[in-house]
Amino acid sequence: ELQAAKKYVEEVYEAVKKRNPHEQEFLQAAKEVFDSLIPIFAKYPQYIEHNILERISEPERMITFRVPWVDDQGNVQVNRGFRVQFSSSIGPYKGGLRFHPSVNASIIKFLGFEQVFKNSLTGLPIGGGKGGSDFDPKGKSDGEVMRFTQSFMSELYRHIGQDTDVPAGDIGVGAREIGYLFGQYKKIRGGYEAGILTGKAPIYGGSPARPEATGYGTVYFVEEMLADKGLGFKDHTVVVSGSGNVSIYAIEKAYQLGAKVIACSDSNGYIYDPSGIKLDTVKRLKEIERRRISDYVLEHPEAEYYEGCTGIWSIPCDIALPCATQNEIDEVAAKTLVENGVKAIGEGANMPSTLEAIDVFLENKVLFGPAKAANAGGVAVSALEMSQNSMRMSWTFEEVDEKLQTIMKNIYQNSKVAAEEFGQPDNLVMGANIAGFIKVADAMIAQGVI
Ligand code: GLU
Repeated sequence: ELQAAKKYVEEVYEAVKKRNPHEQEFLQAAKEVFDSLIPIFAKYPQYIEHNILERISEPERMITFRVPWVDDQGNVQVNRGFRVQFSSSIGPYKGGLRFHPSVNASIIKFLGFEQVFKNSLTGLPIGGGKGGSDFDPKGKSDGEVMRFTQSFMSELYRHIGQDTDVPAGDIGVGAREIGYLFGQYKKIRGGYEAGILTGKAPIYGGSPARPEATGYGTVYFVEEMLADKGLGFKDHTVVVSGSGNVSIYAIEKAYQLGAKVIACSDSNGYIYDPSGIKLDTVKRLKEIERRRISDYVLEHPEAEYYEGCTGIWSIPCDIALPCATQNEIDEVAAKTLVENGVKAIGEGANMPSTLEAIDVFLENKVLFGPAKAANAGGVAVSALEMSQNSMRMSWTFEEVDEKLQTIMKNIYQNSKVAAEEFGQPDNLVMGANIAGFIKVADAMIAQGVI
């Protein structure tokens, strides 16, 4: 059976590669999932009979569109918008929007593909989707961001709905952008459909603890991994890459659990503060003043600033939380982390480790929390926001945080049980992929060939 399973996975991978040539990131995400599913296909041949792998790897729908807008100088600019509706097997498409110059079809598809499994892992009824644009919000005025965002929604609105597809934020899309998107949707549709987007501010239908959810959730997940080995965050040093929404709340929770966070970064460079990163400064610089992380050293001269992003992984630490972007930890960085004695990795970003880096961590028995599992707290609380919108009421911060903790515990347990079933108890990459896959695959079989 193992040979047949291997052959099936190889054939499907070749077909996917042929259908999506040059889509590096998408193929990387697919490869990671495919390889870890081989034991499933060996044990449960019905998934091969129904050709689930090839079906699940082709999005139900991929939309691209023109986004024209006028900049502050009066020039007409054009960007490209995307929405991939990857899988609706277990619920409406759900996933964020990313505004970043690197966005293209490959990036959106890798993110959408990951989202399918991640959303399934949360245990909540949400399918997988993702979207975004190659628009660069960096250096843009509020007015430019608003006009771009309104133009983006002027097309997107016809593809989404609270029971069909519910976008949220991702890199470059935070509370400000969600507000503008929501306003434009409401204006076009002429009705208050609160559940159309998540990540809204609580004053107009957002969920308490949504901003905190991804970062807190990543730390809760790592806490579970550590606890299983009799360890914890207390008195450990932590390096967190990034300084956006995910990083900030990962840092906050790590501190609350008694750890010391000594470094964080942005896309230009990183700061190293051996006495502990002052989170208030990072929050104000990044969230309110929209400045660069290098300005941190102006206020805290005891800290050091270094240009470039990969150097952050050469700082010795007990726990590393990559919360910036895809492929930020390569094989070399992974080896350096291992040589410096890292105990645990929690992926707050999507696909922050290359395939080679993951191998380095697994081979060296480093506790490794893969993104689909470790950062699922964000989308989980988005699903709770949808529930609150449907009920037309809201829970308290404490209620949502408690649900989030339970969800992260369950994701850890389910991933671990799946990994154990296939004889690799410490391989949560395999466990998370299998646990996420089975639910979607069974729903696909139940619903027929559609
Ligand atoms: N962009 C986040 C993610 O990668 C959240 C998506 C959502 O809340 O829908 O999971």
